[in-house]
Amino acid sequence: MKDTCWFCNENESNEDKVYNVAMIRRAKEMEEKNVAIPRCDECEARHRKGHTLSTLMYVGEVVLIAILLFVVKLDFIYVAIVYLILMRLLSDFSQRIRRATAKPYKAVCDVYQNEEVSELVEEGLQKRDDSR
Ligand SMILES: [Zn+2]
Repeated sequence: MKDTCWFCNENESNEDKVYNVAMIRRAKEMEEKNVAIPRCDECEARHRKGHTLSTLMYVGEVVLIAILLFVVKLDFIYVAIVYLILMRLLSDFSQRIRRATAKPYKAVCDVYQNEEVSELVEEGLQKRDDSR
């Protein structure tokens, strides 16, 4: 029997579209675990769209930084400040994009709500990165 997609809790999950969460404990004895979250085709497509939009946003940031550096010829220190401010804003904005495109279902940034993931977090592990 196949699992139900964790993200929409409606469709049957597709084994090829499983969302893998790499968990890691950075300690003397490093520990790595993978949580495979069942996901259906539709949710994967929604997540992919969110990923693409958020990637485009970061590409836009790089273009803007390049323009400030090489066209506007703004001092490096100001460009660095703009970069730092943008990085913070964009990581927040990236989550909003991912949540908006995943609606009405769960987004990949919501995996902390997953039982297995949250148990590992309680054991002191953390998500390795915000992978797709
Ligand atoms: Zn689904």
